[in-house]
Amino acid sequence: MERDQLAKILRNDLFSRRDSVHSAYQYAEKVISTLRQEDKLGVYTLLHVMMNTIADEIEKVKICNHNWKELKSSQDKEAIIVRCTKCGGVKEVVVSNKR
Ligand SMILES: [Zn+2]
Repeated sequence: MERDQLAKILRNDLFSRRDSVHSAYQYAEKVISTLRQEDKLGVYTLLHVMMNTIADEIEKVKICNHNWKELKSSQDKEAIIVRCTKCGGVKEVVVSNKR
């Protein structure tokens, strides 16, 4: 999976974010501390299952200094398909101005 794809899957703009994972974790701990004792274990479990899964996904992300090349000439399209000549990764790129 590409890094940008992973970020897109993970991101939910209904919610805010913090400057770092550490800061986000402190926020989570603060919120969890307000829960009833019997709810804390379940919420901690969810939090750590999510964090472990995200860590695993990050490890799977391909490290490549991409060299994107348009797959084929595509006039009159708002998005083009590009492929990396090094790793073979493919992605769609939105083109702001129609050419
Ligand atoms: Zn690449």
